[in-house]
Parts: sequence; C-alpha cells; structure tokens
Amino acid sequence: MTDQPSLPHQPDCLFCKIVSGDVPATIVRETDTTVAFRDINPQAPTHILVIPRAHYPDAAALSAAEPAVAADVLREAGEIAAEEGIAETGYRVVFNTGSGAGQTVFHAHAHVLGGRGLQWPPG
Ligand code: AMP
Ligand code: ZN
Repeated sequence: MTDQPSLPHQPDCLFCKIVSGDVPATIVRETDTTVAFRDINPQAPTHILVIPRAHYPDAAALSAAEPAVAADVLREAGEIAAEEGIAETGYRVVFNTGSGAGQTVFHAHAHVLGGRGLQWPPG
C-alpha cells in the first residue's frame, strides 16, 4: 500500500498516459504537479504543452478544483518561455476549451507558442 493520494486519472486519456510514462513524449520540464513536453505537431518553432498531472477536462475545471495547480501550469509556461528564449520576443499561452475552439485532448493543457510572429486575432 502507498500513502500517496491518487490523482484524478482517466485510463483512456492520452495525456494521463504521458504522465504515467505509458506513452512517450519529449519532456522538457516536470514538477510535482505538472509535466511539460513538446507538441507532436508543432505550430511554431517553440510549441510546448504544459499539463497538470491530475486529469481535469479543461482549464476551467482545473482552476475550479485546484487553483494552485492551475497557477503552477501558468508559472511553468513562463519558465519554459524564458528557457526557450522566447520571453523577450513574445509568446502566447493558449487553452483551447471545447471542440469548437479546437480542443482535441480533453485533459487540461496550456500551449506555449513562440519563436515566430503570431497574428491577432487567432483563426
Ligand atoms: P488541443 O487541440 O488544444 O486539444 O491540443 C492537443 C495537442 O496535443 C495538439 O496540438 C496535438 O498536436 C498534441 N498532441 C497529440 N498527441 C500528442 C502526443 N502523443 N505527444 C505530444 N503532443 C501531442
Ligand atoms: Zn488525462
């Protein structure tokens, strides 16, 4: 028996499998509460996903249930931008929420995008 509390987890969730190591990913940073890895289909020279280890379907659900972990995700996004050298030139942190906004993986995640000019508004 372990006395570690079990995290919210969905057995059929791709990003839960990345957290557990069952699906490989190019991990760039990890904390007790978050994992960050390179997007498999990058849309910019830097395109990294920051996810909570715990499964919540989107950023709103995460921040309602675990506001401190939502803050961890945002802090990690900033740390990654600094490490990747895109903090100075500018970068974007995006939480696609709902299929109409392009969300395809229903485990909360921040996209950190930079290294090229980014248009506004996004498409
Ligand atoms: P979203 O469309 O906002 O839900 O973002 C999901 C992102 O996950 C997309 O940008 C995908 O390219 C990315 N993705 C899907 N599968 C993997 C994977 N195995 N490793 C890394 N990124 C992935
Ligand atoms: Zn999940």
